[in-house]
Amino acid sequence: MHAIGLRCVFCQTLYPLAPLYECEACQGILEVTYAQENIEEPRAWLPIAGENRIYLGEGDTKLLSAERLAKRLGVKSLQLKCEFMNPTGSFKDRPVSIGISKAIEFGYQKVIAASSGNGAASVAAYAARAGLEAIILVPDSTPLEKVKQTLAYGAKVIRVTGPYSNCFSLAKQLGESQNIFNLTTTLLNPYTVEGNKVVAYELYEQMSGTIPDVIYVPIGAGPLLIGIYKGYVEKSQYHVSTKMPRMAGIQAEGNNPIATAFVQGEPVVQAEPDPRTIAGGIADGLVGYEKDGTYTLQIVKQSNGFVTDVPDSLILQAQMLLAGEEGVFVEPSAAAGIAGLMKSLEENRITENDSVVVVLTGHGLKDMGNVRVASDVPTIDHCMEQLIEAVDI
Ligand SMILES: [Zn+2]
Repeated sequence: MHAIGLRCVFCQTLYPLAPLYECEACQGILEVTYAQENIEEPRAWLPIAGENRIYLGEGDTKLLSAERLAKRLGVKSLQLKCEFMNPTGSFKDRPVSIGISKAIEFGYQKVIAASSGNGAASVAAYAARAGLEAIILVPDSTPLEKVKQTLAYGAKVIRVTGPYSNCFSLAKQLGESQNIFNLTTTLLNPYTVEGNKVVAYELYEQMSGTIPDVIYVPIGAGPLLIGIYKGYVEKSQYHVSTKMPRMAGIQAEGNNPIATAFVQGEPVVQAEPDPRTIAGGIADGLVGYEKDGTYTLQIVKQSNGFVTDVPDSLILQAQMLLAGEEGVFVEPSAAAGIAGLMKSLEENRITENDSVVVVLTGHGLKDMGNVRVASDVPTIDHCMEQLIEAVDI
């Protein structure tokens, strides 16, 4: 293990590797920092010792080439990083695996998390695996599929009225007052973000050391986008190529605080108190932790990337395109990445010759309420004539 401490990303103050959530000096975001030793290239730098890892088979997700969809959208190279193939069906398993492992290391019996659903299921699953108690706060609009999945793992689930930010502040207060480890997977817990770096390490290997021109990531607060970029930065220390991917952060039009700041050229992100989108996984208005959005914006700019927002109608269209053209069914929050690709091609933010990776964050079965499929499925008797008529051969 080469992690040596936590560092504030804004004022650079250093702290020990303790259960801390923000900089005491400036309330900034804390990030794990590593010793710059002349060591052999690691598979990944993570803030835990290998033997302490609580593991459910997360990671090593497939990278699928999407040739038919690429042709349809007008881009030459499109690859899909299938994070919905993780054990609980979303990318959250990578950060949560690290977070739960740290909870054990720090000696906690209980963990708490505010989540829009994917983090909830993941924290509940890994807590069960580790023998810890999990308290999960979700917005009352959370899809039933995600709530039931979380309950199945034995977690204590509480619905909170209003937007996700309400869950965030309650979880933070309860965690602090009751000394419960907070695994909320925004940028609050510095250890969880590290798990996201491994996506970059895997992409590097899966693409034989070539770097994609653009990586699309749906973003609420943005820990996945930050983690992937950080992973490439670390990787670049060991290789001659200095090329870095441009990071494309995709938001929904009904909740676009980071996209708005990007478009208006503002350095600081303002919260969205009333998010309205079907993409629940990215419906994070950042109330009370706008700094997460500001840092994500900084990373996007550093990568020479961009943030854009997409309407729900385009998200649903992208969801059906991906399922119909490639056989890949993801939830609306994940389809937002494909919708973002469609919009940015139209706006010439990228060219058709760019090599593109879209990170697909969550499985389609997790949020079925808005799926746009025909509801008039015919029912017939056990009868061949009726079947022939029904299938219209
Ligand atoms: Zn600070």
